[in-house]
Amino acid sequence: MEIEKNKAEAKAIVTSWKENGLSVGFVPTMGALHEGHLMLIRASQKENDKTVCSIFVNPLQFNRKEDLENYPNTMEQDLEMLENEGCDLVFVPNAVAFYDGVVIPTYDFGLLGKTMEALHRPGHFEGVAAVINEFFKTLLPTRAYFGEKDFQQLAIIKWLVAKENFPVRIVACKTVRAESGLALSSRNLRLSADGRQLAASIYETLHYCKNSKSNYSPTTLVTSAIDKLKKTFDVEYFEIVDGENFQQVEKWEESANPRAFVAAHLEGVRLIDNLSLNP
Ligand code: AMP
Repeated sequence: MEIEKNKAEAKAIVTSWKENGLSVGFVPTMGALHEGHLMLIRASQKENDKTVCSIFVNPLQFNRKEDLENYPNTMEQDLEMLENEGCDLVFVPNAVAFYDGVVIPTYDFGLLGKTMEALHRPGHFEGVAAVINEFFKTLLPTRAYFGEKDFQQLAIIKWLVAKENFPVRIVACKTVRAESGLALSSRNLRLSADGRQLAASIYETLHYCKNSKSNYSPTTLVTSAIDKLKKTFDVEYFEIVDGENFQQVEKWEESANPRAFVAAHLEGVRLIDNLSLNP
């Protein structure tokens, strides 16, 4: 497994693979790797000749300084995990060098840029779009893999690919969960053992919405979900929106693909999750 910090070097490696007719799968991460990330690596390996993983805690996508400073770093263990998975290249750029000379693009994401994560983390998706734009321009992978855990981010990436005409196929992968239902996340490392148990009620609540869909309106479900979560969490938002256009769903007939989204804080850790409400 090659480990590369330098953007030009990483580009040269990927370019030579592609010149030799090899397909390249790309998995961008911020490190503190877990099974959710490894599932993306495995999906890439199945469909491509070579797999590149990046580990880069992108400062531009953090709207709170403390969040960036507290973001877990387990680099040594991450590299070992990637080596064991048979990853071909790990790109670990330095933030200053990565953005040196880069003009940060400005985008109007429409409703996607005005709701849920975008509303609660101003500048977050602008930072995500900046880093992915630069990654794609540098590496031009054949395919890139993203988790549904960050469903709105996935929609932003698809939007970006269409906007910039990147010849990159975006592959969405299902959320990997602990046995309790808690979505795996690097941020879970900052929860206590008790906190991790309690956090499972996020998934229970999402599931409650899915199971109760035939009995209640979306608005009623949102209210009762927030009431349930309030007992344990500081709830930032809980919304049921259409999984394609992200419009709020007020009546079930309005959406063929209703999806519940939540952001909630526990022990000072911000957790997000989402679930399709279709059977
Ligand atoms: P992150 O390191 O949190 O920026 O995540 C890197 C990629 O892994 C993103 O595409 C995430 O959506 C994906 N990811 C993170 N956690 C999970 C999970 N539990 N299941 C599936 N994908 C995940």
